[in-house]
Amino acid sequence: MLDQIRGGLFGAAVGDALGATTECMNKEEIQEKYGKIKTIIGGGWLALDPGEVTDDTDMMIAVANGITQSPENPIPAIGEEFLKWHRRNPRGVGRTISHVLSQYQGDWFQTAFHVHCAQQGKSSGNGSLMRCLPVALAYSDQEMMEKITFLQSKMTHYADEAAEACLIYNRIAFRLLKGENLKTSLKEEIMNTCYSSVCFRKEPDCPPDGYVVHTLIWVLHWLWNCHTFEEVVIEAANRGGDSDTIASIAGGLKGLEAGFHRLPRRFTEILRVKQELELLSEKLCAVRQRI
Ligand SMILES: [Mg+2]
Repeated sequence: MLDQIRGGLFGAAVGDALGATTECMNKEEIQEKYGKIKTIIGGGWLALDPGEVTDDTDMMIAVANGITQSPENPIPAIGEEFLKWHRRNPRGVGRTISHVLSQYQGDWFQTAFHVHCAQQGKSSGNGSLMRCLPVALAYSDQEMMEKITFLQSKMTHYADEAAEACLIYNRIAFRLLKGENLKTSLKEEIMNTCYSSVCFRKEPDCPPDGYVVHTLIWVLHWLWNCHTFEEVVIEAANRGGDSDTIASIAGGLKGLEAGFHRLPRRFTEILRVKQELELLSEKLCAVRQRI
């Protein structure tokens, strides 16, 4: 169990660190500048050092910290972790999250609704999907897992599309932790949803951007079509667009399936947040055994 949990957290962080190099580029620009990115080299529009991660991993860590502090009622603690992170002035924060975190005055759900309205009813970014994995790692009770998954999305993203994407994703993660097969879990969880055609298409007909539906379509596409963890994160990174987030979300599930011991050391050893992720894996595993 611990190896799988560690695989999930590290898998997501590796995807983020690898994909950050190519974020906002298209696949032709990537090919021209890098050929094919296969290692974590940093750079990108955020000018990262190799092994540095972005908001995706930072917010995933915030969710994990909130859960380990207060597993029975984690939303207030998760919120405190978000605010703590935001006070450090992180770069590259998504629009919806940035607005919610700067306007928060005591009620997450109310703030998310105001921001949703101010954005003309648009709050379907991938910002709650990219951070939700720790919920599936921590809770072995499915009802509790689904409730927290839903609420952590609604804290910043009022749109149902965002919460639905988080639920589909975490239900797949939940099954993997019970030893189920990735492809079977994926196929069953997307049945009768807007994602069901992913398994039948050669390539998605939407851009790999930050709209949560597009993001999840690409994540599912890579998970369905690639065999190894390495292949998933490399392909997602080299496709560009919102590549750090897409590689991170896909890498989280593929890493969870593979387990930490199967992730390439050249990816995991270079991560700046390595020790934090090690510690959080153990803490989440301990929560899972209690709840
Ligand atoms: Mg990012």
